[in-house]
Amino acid sequence: MKNGPKPKLAAYRKMLENKAEEVRRSMSAQKAAQVVARLDVPSDEGDLSQQHHEEWIFLNRNTIDMKLLREISDALRRIDHDNYGICMECEEPISAKRLEAVPWARYCVKCQERIAARIADGELVDDYQETGR
Ligand SMILES: [Zn+2]
Repeated sequence: MKNGPKPKLAAYRKMLENKAEEVRRSMSAQKAAQVVARLDVPSDEGDLSQQHHEEWIFLNRNTIDMKLLREISDALRRIDHDNYGICMECEEPISAKRLEAVPWARYCVKCQERIAARIADGELVDDYQETGR
């Protein structure tokens, strides 16, 4: 941190950290519930597919949480690099209203809509892009 955080950025950072904490807590709660459920499952082979199914649901839910955590940590990194709140597509500032609703937003509303439309058209994959880092 070169010049110390700006007051507004500090508020966003706090929001992001709180959200990350909330997601992490819900993930470990799910994990605990999963372990408890496991104890009830008799371990004969007939239950195996059911077990796989539960695992799949768990992983799937986990993937969404992991994705969000990654977006949050990226946003925190953008705060550190002084480019937080700048649309990664058009490089215009993202509105404060949007950032307050979605502090980890990477795109302004216009670009987000365009990207969502491209995803709907199958042009883009709705996956967190690892490229362009
Ligand atoms: Zn934009």
